[in-house]
Amino acid sequence: MLKINNISKIYPNGVQALKDVTLTIPSGMYGLLGPNGAGKSTLMRILATLQEPDHGSIHLGTSTGSVLDVLNQKEEVRQTLGYLPQEFGLYPNAKAEDLLDYFAVLKGITNRTSRKEVVESLLKQTNLWEKRRQKLGGFSGGMKQRFGVAVALLGNPKLLIVDEPTAGLDPAERVRFLNLLSELGENSVVILSTHIVEDVSELCTRMAIISKGQILQEAEPLKAVEGLQGLIWRRIVEKSELPALEQEYKIISYKLLSGRTVVHIYSEEHPGKGFELVAADLEDVYFSTMAGHTGNYKAETAI
Ligand code: ADP
Repeated sequence: MLKINNISKIYPNGVQALKDVTLTIPSGMYGLLGPNGAGKSTLMRILATLQEPDHGSIHLGTSTGSVLDVLNQKEEVRQTLGYLPQEFGLYPNAKAEDLLDYFAVLKGITNRTSRKEVVESLLKQTNLWEKRRQKLGGFSGGMKQRFGVAVALLGNPKLLIVDEPTAGLDPAERVRFLNLLSELGENSVVILSTHIVEDVSELCTRMAIISKGQILQEAEPLKAVEGLQGLIWRRIVEKSELPALEQEYKIISYKLLSGRTVVHIYSEEHPGKGFELVAADLEDVYFSTMAGHTGNYKAETAI
C-alpha cells in the first residue's frame, strides 16, 4: 500500500503542479486519470524519487510489514521501484536482449545464470522473445513500450509506475499493452497515469481523477458509474444550438458522432426538450467530475 499525504509542488516559474494531494493506493492496478497539464507526471516523478515535493510525505508498505519513507529512503525505494516514464530514449543500435541484460546488471542482478533467466522470462512475458536479436531503433511504438515494461519489471518491483503508456500507440498495440499490464501481479502497487478513460475502465479497480493539481474524486470505477445512473441525459443537436443549451443545462460533454453533435448533460430531473436518459459510463463520470458533479457517489477516501 502506498500512502501519499499532502503533497504539493510549485515549479520555479510559479506553476502550482500539485496542491495538497492525499491518496491511499492499495495493491493492484490504480488509475490516475486527468487531462494534460493536470500534474500526473509531476506526481509520478515524485513517487519515482526523481523530484522533490515542496511538502508532504509518502510511505510505501511492503509485504514484510516494513514501511519505507519514500522521500527520505530513496535508495531503498529505488531497489523496489519500476518506472516507465512518459518518454524515454533507447539506444537505437542496441539489441533488445543485450540492452535488457545491461539494465539487469545495473539493477544489481549480477549472477549470470539468474540474469539470463530473468531476461528470457521478461522478454517472453512482454512478447518480445522473437525480436530479441533486433535493434531497438527498428521497434514500433508498442514494442518500445513493451520493452520499457520489461526494463521496469526487472527486480520484481513492489511499486510500478507507468506514465501515459498508451498515448501514441495504435489500437492493436494499445490492447496488447493493456493486456500485458493486466497480467501483472496483484501483489504490487501498479499506478497507471493516463488521460484516456478507457485505459482506466478496462484495467483499474480503483482510480483518482486529478485536475489542476488537485484530486477531484477517488473511487472504484464501477461504483462511480453506478452513482451516476439516472443522472445523465443525451440529445443529438445542431452545433448552433450549443450556446443556448449551455445556458440552460449542465453540459458535461459533447462529441461528434458521424458528423452530428451528441450532448450529454447532468440533470437530477427529466430535462425535457427531447433529452433521453442514457446508461452512464466512466467517461460520463470523468466529465461530470471535471464539471463539478459527482452524482450519488460519495467518494470514500480511505485514510
Ligand atoms: P500531466 O502529466 O498531467 O500532463 P505535468 O505534471 O506534466 O502534468 O504538468 C503539470 C503542470 O506543471 C503543467 O502546467 C506544466 O506545464 C507544469 N510543469 C511541468 N513540468 C514543469 C517544469 N519542469 N517547470 C515548470 N513547469 C512545469
